[in-house]
Amino acid sequence: MRDHASAADVQHVVDLLTEAGAEAHLSRGEVKTIIGVIGDREVIYSLEFEGLPGVEQVVRVLKPFKLVSRDFQPEDTVVRARGTAIGGGAFAVVAGPCSIESEEQMFSTARAAADAGANMLRGGAFKPRSSPYAFQGMGVEGLKLLRAAGDEVGLPVVTEVLDVRDAEVVAEYADVMQVGARNMQNFMMLDELGTMAKPVLLKRGLSATIEELLSAAEYILKGGNRDVILCERGIRTFETYTRNTLDLSAVAALKSLTHLPVMVDPSHATGRRDLIGPMCKAGIAAGADGLMIEVHPDPEHARCDGPQSLTPADFAALMSDLGPRIALEEKTMGAAS
Ligand code: PEP
Ligand code: MN
Repeated sequence: MRDHASAADVQHVVDLLTEAGAEAHLSRGEVKTIIGVIGDREVIYSLEFEGLPGVEQVVRVLKPFKLVSRDFQPEDTVVRARGTAIGGGAFAVVAGPCSIESEEQMFSTARAAADAGANMLRGGAFKPRSSPYAFQGMGVEGLKLLRAAGDEVGLPVVTEVLDVRDAEVVAEYADVMQVGARNMQNFMMLDELGTMAKPVLLKRGLSATIEELLSAAEYILKGGNRDVILCERGIRTFETYTRNTLDLSAVAALKSLTHLPVMVDPSHATGRRDLIGPMCKAGIAAGADGLMIEVHPDPEHARCDGPQSLTPADFAALMSDLGPRIALEEKTMGAAS
């Protein structure tokens, strides 16, 4: 309440709360009275306190998410896709091309990714492109190539589901369903994925807050699917030197707010191959449970995201550079289990 709010103004708020079935806890100071409210969230949110006489500020303490919250589940969620685990100390590296372009490209990337130690394979078959004239992906033919390449090298595969109408066909081939940044708040899609028995990799929207990302994940968990991996892939800022701005503080914040595993995608975050190594290390230091890295056998001729793609040789060098850090994560898991 405002400084020196009258007893009548305080009582009026208390009466409104009591009528709505909520409890009001008064904390009276010399100057200020604070009214703490406990009760059903929906009911409390439906009441309008702003503008009432004597009311200074309404602060929502309740988080809009519940199932994804660490308050709800203190232990880390471990998401499993075939032989790969992520979360709870298990570290995953997802590598592969931005888009699946051909059999030769997909298989050679898959072999290189597996040889270098990646434990999940990626490739886009349905591509969200800024321009309608840009390559839109190979569609179902691409899904088949990704599946076959993953099977050959023994890695689970992750691919984006761009439209809820494709969810079923994507699930037929994918081990992990990726929701792209542009679809993070596609609530119909989130609802649909919530009913499916497939892990979901949910990427942070281009301009989404941490709370919005967690609320999007809440949709999936609310539907019954608990296997969600969050992915920080950079957000829009005024900076143009990098494609986006990698929000590393979000990684650390998410690790304390939620039990879900958190992945970092330095490829889409920076758009620049020279920054991927340092940002992988920074992501690990911030507490990430995994990395997503774009790899292409011939980045100069890639149909999508060439400038941010590593060659197989660069990827192998990066993996051996990261080696001790990743191994440390795995050791932590061993100690905990
Ligand atoms: C991708 O991972 O291929 C992709 C399109 O990423 P984002 O949705 O983060 O832009
Ligand atoms: Mn890409």
